[in-house]
Amino acid sequence: MRSPPAGSGSDHMNIHEYQAKALLHEFGVPISRGVAVLKASDSDAAARQLPGPVWVVKSQIHAGGRGKGKFKEASAGDKGGVRIAKSVEEVNEFAKQMLGATLVTVQTGPAGKQVNRLYIEDGSDIDKEFYLSILVDRETSRVSFVVSTEGGVNIEDVAHNTPEKIVTFSVDPATGIMGHHGRTVAKALNLSGDLAKQAEKLTAQLYAAFVAKDMSMLEINPLVVTKQGELRVLDAKVSFDDNALFRHPEIAVSLRDLTEEDAKEIEASKYDLNYVTLDGNIGCMVNGAGLAMATMDIIKLYGMAPANFLDVGGSASKEKVAAAFKIITADPNVKGILVNIFGGIMKCDVIAEGVTAAVREVGLSVPLVVRLEGTNVELGKKIIRESGLNVVPADNLDDAAQKIVKAVKGG
Ligand code: GDP
Ligand code: MG
Repeated sequence: MRSPPAGSGSDHMNIHEYQAKALLHEFGVPISRGVAVLKASDSDAAARQLPGPVWVVKSQIHAGGRGKGKFKEASAGDKGGVRIAKSVEEVNEFAKQMLGATLVTVQTGPAGKQVNRLYIEDGSDIDKEFYLSILVDRETSRVSFVVSTEGGVNIEDVAHNTPEKIVTFSVDPATGIMGHHGRTVAKALNLSGDLAKQAEKLTAQLYAAFVAKDMSMLEINPLVVTKQGELRVLDAKVSFDDNALFRHPEIAVSLRDLTEEDAKEIEASKYDLNYVTLDGNIGCMVNGAGLAMATMDIIKLYGMAPANFLDVGGSASKEKVAAAFKIITADPNVKGILVNIFGGIMKCDVIAEGVTAAVREVGLSVPLVVRLEGTNVELGKKIIRESGLNVVPADNLDDAAQKIVKAVKGG
């Protein structure tokens, strides 16, 4: 079965750069000293905790490409989302300009992201910039490293233009990280002597952090060599596997930044619903991920696109169904709703009760097509029939998709 669309907020949790660095530091990984601030009035004290003479003021948003990003507000200036400051006064000036402003990068989409936190860091003297990432390779079911001498630039461009400059290898989970992995990293980065030793140590530390914290992705771009001859993590992006978050309450609770997440997805996660926002106009409520994917495909076949991916699961309660329905109806992009329930475990009467309860509470201003099949289907249909709701019944998935598209297009 395919997994939900890439970039979904519901199978990975992201954290900010400064949080990722603090976490890596627990494993001994070398980072610059820095202080996170939420208010411009705190930037002065933060900068004075660092030695100078150079500081880096870094926007903390869940998106990369900040350095080359642009703020929407002219008052934020045109120096991007990562700025080098040569004095405490300059740090303060940048903090005032950037906090509260909206940063647009290649990864945020045109709407951009509001900068609510800054990380003020001790500036490094950079000699070289490298790339290193670790991820779970679904094909080999192993943890894989991707290493390149070409850092500080878009790795997709490197992969496209000079693929020979990218070295990848995976780690056998039975043996774990070994000395030769570290030597492979050092060699890939053309490092020798003490720097090679640092690379070997770093490889083991990063792997340990990745496994211990159930990360799904760790991207360091750039990993730098300083003019003082030290290897250092200068930027870090970390995602965690949602399915393992229960093992890490310290991450799930204290590192989560809800302001970065889609409000609908947060609400859905409270009810343990598997929900992902998409950019179409048909709201979908489906049981089972496979059926959800099929429903999305068939909506597209009939010329429209789904507004969301939502799997209510196999045994949802009436409350859970009602919550799911409310999340869908609250989305202004939703111009029609398709409920498609098929299967033995999910009871159709529970679905019907959840939907009718939600509509009684929040109303319904768009067409609704319901296809029910499975346990207690007759009872479910009766509940909907007797609810007085303006529901269009459908016999099968194809019929349901055609009906909802027709209802929406026909106004
Ligand atoms: P990104 O643009 O979101 O990937 O943010 P990064 O943290 O990677 O910063 C962007 C770029 O700013 C880096 O590739 C570096 O070239 C530069 N940069 C970041 N920190 C420092 C620093 O301490 N000293 C210097 N000289 N440049 C830095
Ligand atoms: Mg970067």
